[in-house]
Amino acid sequence: MNARWHASLTADHRIQASIDATAIAHNLALIRQRARQCARPPRIWATVKADAYGHGLALVLPGLVDADGIAVQYLSDAHACRQAGWQGPILVYAGLQSASEAALLNIPGLHLVISHAAQIDWLSARPPRPEAPDVWLRFCGDLRLAGFDIAAYGRADARCRELAAQHRIGQIGHLNHYAHAEDEDGIAAAHALFRQATRDLPGPISTCNSAAMWRHAGHMAETDWIRPGLALYGASPLPGTHGPALGLRPAMTLTARLMSLQTVAAGESAGYRSSFVATQATRIGLVGCGYADGYPRHAASGTPVLVNGHRSQVLGCITMDVTMIDLTGIADAVPGAPVTLWGAPGLPVETVAAAAGTIAAELLCGLTARVPLVAHAAHPA
Ligand SMILES: *Cc1c(COP(=O)(O)O)cnc(C)c1O
Repeated sequence: MNARWHASLTADHRIQASIDATAIAHNLALIRQRARQCARPPRIWATVKADAYGHGLALVLPGLVDADGIAVQYLSDAHACRQAGWQGPILVYAGLQSASEAALLNIPGLHLVISHAAQIDWLSARPPRPEAPDVWLRFCGDLRLAGFDIAAYGRADARCRELAAQHRIGQIGHLNHYAHAEDEDGIAAAHALFRQATRDLPGPISTCNSAAMWRHAGHMAETDWIRPGLALYGASPLPGTHGPALGLRPAMTLTARLMSLQTVAAGESAGYRSSFVATQATRIGLVGCGYADGYPRHAASGTPVLVNGHRSQVLGCITMDVTMIDLTGIADAVPGAPVTLWGAPGLPVETVAAAAGTIAAELLCGLTARVPLVAHAAHPA
């Protein structure tokens, strides 16, 4: 068992997610190193939407001091970032949500994405101010969740140039987000259309989430700002691989405790609707972690966990509060022993996600309020 987890899981913690800011810093440095392979290395918007993919903004920021800027979803998040001490640029992916939000733009270093015409109307109604935000026009691309299509893009750009001339906004950039970045042939056509929409328009461009960076490394030469999210947290953006296989370090370790043990005989069952039926005498451990904590209810029987460093597995169905695991042959497991659900070496969150039929990002973002996020205590090696 890795002694660090004993140390960081205090007696008060039934369950906790330990967040390692040095892993975030490592992942950011790896991304920077990949970007530097380009003749003109792009800058980095470190994506911290959804409370830093569930890791807790305040715990993650110490690992992001070398980012060129951070990206959030909503304007209220940008205010939270300033309160948490981030002084660099902040990009707001969803931009303004209403006319009244235009009164909340008094944040220096603010960058707003503009995805539809009403957002331009709201900005034009705002009196000119010295701290005019920079804007990024979003192309709808092949994702089509947000943004201007090729017919509307030029007009949106022209309207923004009028606002810039009136000092209502600052610089104008161009942003695209891919629908198929993990595929080998996933971005060429989408990028060509984006270049067509933005041809002859001045301003920096921003493309590339984590998947685009890893699958299409050469493409980073064609963008001024990349926008990694998932990879910063140490999870792989490519299906079928794990973050550690790409040199990334998982930043979150989810650890709960063994509550009790029992042995059931062959033929006996346990769990709601007898979800586990013993085919031989089985030592079952009960772990204080369930779907009300954010552990996925769909994690199949057999999903791996670690008990005192030994690999074990889920038995039967996950319940709201507790999960059964197999302790057969693990003699040193006693009540109170830490059980790692994901994040330890050898147990990446991607493995648990695959066993539950979902993706790593959903698990990382899905921990509930009853799981404390705790700064990983650095220990001398
Ligand atoms: C979430 C998001 C990203 C980061 O994506 P990852 O796949 O997590 O790297 C980048 N750009 C936009 C617009 C996003 O919404």
